[in-house]
Amino acid sequence: MSAVNLLEFDRESLSDHCERLGEKRFRATQLFRWIHQKGAADFNAMSDLAVSLRSKLNGSAEVGAMKVLSEKVASDGTIKWLFDVGGGDAVETVFIPEADRGTLCISSQAGCAVGCRFCSTGHQGFSRNLTTAEIVGQLWHAEFDLRRRLGLPAGERAVSNVVMMGMGEPLQNYAALVPALRVMLDDHGYGLSRRRVTVSTSGVVPMIDRLRDDCAVALAVSLHAPNDALRNDLVPLNRKYPLAELLAACNRYLEKAPRDFITFEYCMLDGVNDDPTQAAELLALVMTGGPGGRQLPCKFNLIPFNPFPESGLKRSPLAKIVAFARVLQNAGVVTTIRRTRGEDIDAACGQLAGEVQDRTHVERRMTRAPIRIHRPAPTERAIRRGPELA
Ligand code: SAH
Ligand code: SF4
Repeated sequence: MSAVNLLEFDRESLSDHCERLGEKRFRATQLFRWIHQKGAADFNAMSDLAVSLRSKLNGSAEVGAMKVLSEKVASDGTIKWLFDVGGGDAVETVFIPEADRGTLCISSQAGCAVGCRFCSTGHQGFSRNLTTAEIVGQLWHAEFDLRRRLGLPAGERAVSNVVMMGMGEPLQNYAALVPALRVMLDDHGYGLSRRRVTVSTSGVVPMIDRLRDDCAVALAVSLHAPNDALRNDLVPLNRKYPLAELLAACNRYLEKAPRDFITFEYCMLDGVNDDPTQAAELLALVMTGGPGGRQLPCKFNLIPFNPFPESGLKRSPLAKIVAFARVLQNAGVVTTIRRTRGEDIDAACGQLAGEVQDRTHVERRMTRAPIRIHRPAPTERAIRRGPELA
């Protein structure tokens, strides 16, 4: 019988496991703390754990870390690990150090089935969902490796923030995601605040609702287009869950969210979605997308597109990005332009590719057709701007 990987369990299910072994449930808290607060993997070293439990765990369980295939450090201090998850698949994790925080960008799937045109993971297709142990294992490895490397004093954390923005669509791997989030938030685990754990989604509407009820953490929604026609082309999931439904789900999420706004991500693609008229259309969308037709509480994060050869797309020039931001900012919508990190090691947003066995043959299906640019017709534009500008 293969050993049970304890990284698979949140504290509740670890308690169930202890019970199955004939031990008291509360022993799980001690065990959990050894694993997630001290980074221990050797049961014999867990000195305050009952000897009976230690001997039952030896041989039947393990703290199963993943094999690191490579590790790269960028000139700006960003670190990228490539983890072997078996079967020819490998996933990437990125640590982004900043003066006041350390952010870990975690993968949720080997590949991704959504197939966004501008995303390197999307171009690889989908192999499989990661398990909870594989999601938590990325944090476990990064946290304790960094503590050793940085020589942090006992109890000081290296990772203060987690963003589920690596490879994959986290809300299409919901069953494994939620226990992993619980381990991150648990005071006996990593003790991260809900505001510092962000799930980023391309818009899986029913799962946004479930996350709100099961484990409301900060939410980022990848918007990328101001209307359904363009979003259908860029984010194929939009055909299933169009913008009106997505914004309604965002409003419902805000009722329980730890932050009082949704972060909208918008990847800036040259000549595709970066025109000032599209900024105005986007503004109109959020100005009326909130409860009762009022403004939807949100912030925008404009991500300069990180190019990769197969995409056939280009990054918007900085001046265009700044002008786009101005339109939103002038209306009082907080808008930031994301600083690209780890570019020299292909660790920037959307560059994570790992190694994925494409079981969906997405590369064969992915359309190469030029993106149709859906700008408002001149008459519509004139109406929106008002007659004085027409
Ligand atoms: N699947 C989730 C989370 C992973 S992608 C989602 O789509 O939200 C994380 C972020 O990187 C998303 O906002 C995504 O749109 C963005 N992204 C993807 N490819 C990119 C690229 N080539 N350049 C810049 N950002 C990209
Ligand atoms: Fe998947 Fe997100 Fe990439 Fe789209 S942007 S293909 S949802 S990982």
